[in-house]
Amino acid sequence: SVQREALIAAIENVAARIEAEKSTLTDLDSAIGDADHGNNMHRGFEAVVEKVDEFEEMSPADIVKTVGTTIIGNVGGASGPLYGGSLMSASQELEDGITAETSIAFAEAYLEKVKDRGDAHLGAKTMVDALTPAVHTYKKSIEHDDLPPLTAFAKAVDAAERGVEFTVPIRAAKGRASFLGWRSVGHQDPGATSTLFIMQEILKTAE
Ligand code: ADP
Ligand code: MG
Ligand code: MG
Repeated sequence: SVQREALIAAIENVAARIEAEKSTLTDLDSAIGDADHGNNMHRGFEAVVEKVDEFEEMSPADIVKTVGTTIIGNVGGASGPLYGGSLMSASQELEDGITAETSIAFAEAYLEKVKDRGDAHLGAKTMVDALTPAVHTYKKSIEHDDLPPLTAFAKAVDAAERGVEFTVPIRAAKGRASFLGWRSVGHQDPGATSTLFIMQEILKTAE
């Protein structure tokens, strides 16, 4: 189907971007973590790309679910269960295919799962700071401003970018960066950054 092909193309573009940004993400993590975020994400998406042949036979929901389980199986650390577990769980919302409505439900379920699993509030200097404004902007742009999903998603990517910038001046309250206390101030969060890169690639693929 057209949807399946678009989804597979998005996944391949995300994997390529993660590979290209591996050192960027690891450098960010070396400042406030343990210098492995680029490697973690790369290991996960490398394993995902190896499953692309299997994706040809799957529904969009099953593809997203498999991306999640593959990330869980290949990525340790905080980001593996947060990305993988949340994708796996939110994939249920795509069972009727990908529409404006199901994509909003997916985005909201994904954000809720990340927040549940990580116990991170907005402003804790994590991926939640990129995701929260993005999900709210996406939903509002469609439901309130009546924008087409692609336009809404472009606005969501802008919101995620501002969310990433917002992580710089704040103090980490969750994850390894929180061990640094005030010394985490002035550094950009790696997980918020990888979240933005992924969203940018999904947008590019859809455009
Ligand atoms: P680890 O910190 O275990 O080495 P990674 O370096 O791969 O794992 O991922 C770090 C990223 O995970 C952080 O930049 C942050 O965005 C995210 N993160 C860490 N802990 C949490 C949490 N409790 N809630 C949400 N996100 C978190
Ligand atoms: Mg790390
Ligand atoms: Mg680690």
